[in-house]
Amino acid sequence: MPNKAIFLDRDDTLIADPGYISKPEQVKLLDGVSDALIELNGMGYKLVIVSNQSGIARGIVTEKVLGEIHNRLKQLLAKDGASVDAIYYCPYHVDGTIAKYSKKSDMRKPNPGMLLQAADEMDIDLSQSWAIGNNDSDIEAGSRANCKTILINHPSRYKQSESGSKPDFKAVNMKEAVNIIKQNNRSPEKNSDEQSDLPKKKMNNNPENDKTEELLTGILEQLRGSRRDNMFGEFSIMRLMAGVVQIVVLFCLLISVWFIMSPTKQTNSALISLGFAMVFQLMSLTFYMMQGRK
Ligand SMILES: [Mg+2]
Repeated sequence: MPNKAIFLDRDDTLIADPGYISKPEQVKLLDGVSDALIELNGMGYKLVIVSNQSGIARGIVTEKVLGEIHNRLKQLLAKDGASVDAIYYCPYHVDGTIAKYSKKSDMRKPNPGMLLQAADEMDIDLSQSWAIGNNDSDIEAGSRANCKTILINHPSRYKQSESGSKPDFKAVNMKEAVNIIKQNNRSPEKNSDEQSDLPKKKMNNNPENDKTEELLTGILEQLRGSRRDNMFGEFSIMRLMAGVVQIVVLFCLLISVWFIMSPTKQTNSALISLGFAMVFQLMSLTFYMMQGRK
């Protein structure tokens, strides 16, 4: 019986992406990735990383160092009891500076070459498989290989797709992606349109209405993304502190209103409270930003 697989993009899907990773020490797993891979493995999927590595063609990293980077990634996963079955990468790019690697390649995503090669070498049934990544090129490669696709699309980095490639599903992180795959395994005939309760586009000849509807759908989707981020995001002390300080801000604002409304109209006291409200608001924002960078 052929295998089913999850094709995983590497940067900003499994590990943090600081630009080009050129040293093993730069490898940092994203929150919840090890647990997600353990769950997917338990569901019987082969886990295959497929990664564009044009840094090799550009002379930023050698294949030897890339091997060390991937060993580091495997070590970090192993520490948590997780693993992947294979790592495929494409070193080629047309604008490369290293002659050997400066060429067009069917392996480079959005081409599906790496997925097709893995399917051939690992006996993978692509129609039972998924592709997960944070870029349009990951989605296009996945759908051209006949896989179902999930775009990891954090709401703070939300952008409308430019290439027109449409993922089957969107998730804020790997944790939500696993949830989507679980749900889809239970009801394989359901597709994303049936699952989504986003307003369906109606036939409409007025381009202004079309634009407004598109904008509203975008806003609605972004709000849902934030809500899902809260559901599937990790708990953090910084986030909790930001929430507590936010309540203090509200309290300061209420006090300043009370000073203004009081019969003696204590304007100075009201201004002091407003000042405190501003300081606490800044604190709250700082906590929120710090938790985003942890
Ligand atoms: Mg990526």
